[in-house]
Amino acid sequence: MSHSLDSEVLIVGAGWSGMYALHRLRKLGLNATVLEAAEDVGGTWFWNRYPGARCDIESLHYSYSFDEDLQEEWTWSERYAAQPELLSYARHVADRFDLRKDIRFGVWVESAEFDESTHQWTLSTSAGQTFTSRFLIMATGSLSAPKTPDIPGLENFRGEIISTFDWPEEKRDFSGQRVAVIGTGSSGIQVIPELAKTAEELFIFQRTPSYSLPAFNRPLSREESEEFKRSAAQIRAAARDSLDGLALENSGKSALEISAEEREEIFSAVYNQGSPFKFQGIFTDQMFQEEANRTAADFVAAKIAERVDDPDIARALTPTSYPIATRRLCIDTNYYETYNRDNVTLVDLLSDPLTQVTEQGLQTEAGLHEVDIIVLATGFDAITGALSRIDIRGTGGRLLREKWADKISTYLGLMINGYPNLFTVTGPLSPSVLSNMMVSLEHHVEWITDCIAHLDQQGLSRIEASAEAEAEWGEHVNEVAAQTLFPQANSWYMGANVAGKSRQILPYVGGVGNYRRRTLEIAADGYRGFELQSQPSVVIAN
Ligand code: FAD
Ligand code: NAP
Repeated sequence: MSHSLDSEVLIVGAGWSGMYALHRLRKLGLNATVLEAAEDVGGTWFWNRYPGARCDIESLHYSYSFDEDLQEEWTWSERYAAQPELLSYARHVADRFDLRKDIRFGVWVESAEFDESTHQWTLSTSAGQTFTSRFLIMATGSLSAPKTPDIPGLENFRGEIISTFDWPEEKRDFSGQRVAVIGTGSSGIQVIPELAKTAEELFIFQRTPSYSLPAFNRPLSREESEEFKRSAAQIRAAARDSLDGLALENSGKSALEISAEEREEIFSAVYNQGSPFKFQGIFTDQMFQEEANRTAADFVAAKIAERVDDPDIARALTPTSYPIATRRLCIDTNYYETYNRDNVTLVDLLSDPLTQVTEQGLQTEAGLHEVDIIVLATGFDAITGALSRIDIRGTGGRLLREKWADKISTYLGLMINGYPNLFTVTGPLSPSVLSNMMVSLEHHVEWITDCIAHLDQQGLSRIEASAEAEAEWGEHVNEVAAQTLFPQANSWYMGANVAGKSRQILPYVGGVGNYRRRTLEIAADGYRGFELQSQPSVVIAN
């Protein structure tokens, strides 16, 4: 029996992951099509256009490493690039590798179904189109499904509601406007100082405070860029072998086995470099030992107190309910200083809870805050949300979100038992968001595309993670996390920000280098833990 297919491989998503997957599949001689909901490439950097949006990993490191010429010809203007520059880079990559001709933009994938008799996936879109392929790569992003905030009465608000996730494309003027921001995670912390510059009044509704370090962002000099390019091969290799996809030094010391003076000196030196990843790992025990972690938390709390004039506001802005860096450590430009402005008011929802949104504004127990605009910086259904909101049906027609209702399980964050031929880029239980994503997604794309090429060469076209391998990987992920402080926080890393979601560690905390070696060994060992089969003959339609 033969079947006709639209593509050998369908890729959902045209962010960094989907773009690179397309490029690499083409190089391997495989036919691929990308389906993307947005009207252009860029993923995260297409959608999150709010003022102040920047990367929190230095641009030089947060860029593709797979092509030396690309690396050579692109020069970043700032240490931490802003969203317009990151989007220009994505567009440049799309043009340079002529990617757009195989990307269908404005296509929202609603469902994906695996046919056991043909070993094919069929995708359906919101416009009623269907696409068929042998392999499906979900490059749908870890932070691309915005959370629907559970705020009573939001629908009654008469003014404008803007989300940081899909900020309007046209430039907005907030002068003369009373603006409320709900949410003080990384997005809120970046947008708040920018809005405060022009808004007549800015009210910040904070439930859980974040820890944030100053970015010390600055223009990048030609010399720095050239120096990086000269050493790029070594830097990139070290990053791939590192804990977090960044070639960072740590002190090699325990925070508790040195004098308070030495500890302070080390914290100060790293703090002044403006690198949160470096700060959170500077002492070997900081993420493992509460007392060690507290030394870092106390250091940052003292900095918050220095940066904020009013001690009561400083206190309200200082987290107390979780170890530092078990929720994402943020990076800012003038965030805490913004609270020293006359037009800015912090509304601490822990002491003055939000009761409802009315037509005029936000009602807390203490009173009504009338505003013209509400900015939602309320976060994402992270890591699994982009997959769970699609009706993905695997063997036996089982919906993926149903499989994941009680426990989120994958094998290596790359494949899921019951969902043959479906690969996830930076999927749940892989290092993903706890790393420089560029390093992690390049590795996943290479692993996945090599796997597809291998199956092709061997005349195999069904691969599925075994239930045993998946269960063992899940246990390992939990065991490693249990040695750290991460499980103590109600974070999106733990799935805790979405009601009803399974509470478990979602990124793998065992380190990028270890993880990489393990996945490569598994592939070299004939894809250990995966079941490989041959399949009915397939004809590719032109
Ligand atoms: P994405 O960029 O999320 O792209 C996924 C694409 O899939 C999107 O374009 C989306 O429209 C599309 N898609 C999803 N579902 C569907 C569907 N059903 N149908 C059709 N299309 C679909 N990481 C870092 O390492 N460093 C940083 O500095 C950093 N900063 C960040 C800042 C912000 C504001 C956010 C939100 C995230 C940040 N991240 C950062 C994480 C960031 O998401 C990744 O670094 C990276 O951009 C992920 O690329 P991706 O291609 O895997 O996914
Ligand atoms: P987030 O970190 O999850 O923050 C969401 C914020 O909204 C939290 O303060 C949360 O408070 C609040 N919130 C949610 N629902 C609420 C409600 N019903 N009422 C009141 N407050 C509510 O989301 P994010 O800021 O978008 O960041 C997500 C991730 O994206 C980051 O951790 C980071 O990985 C990435 N990111 C990176 C950058 C960067 O610097 N490059 C910028 C933006 C995003 P509670 O915690 O109390 O729920």
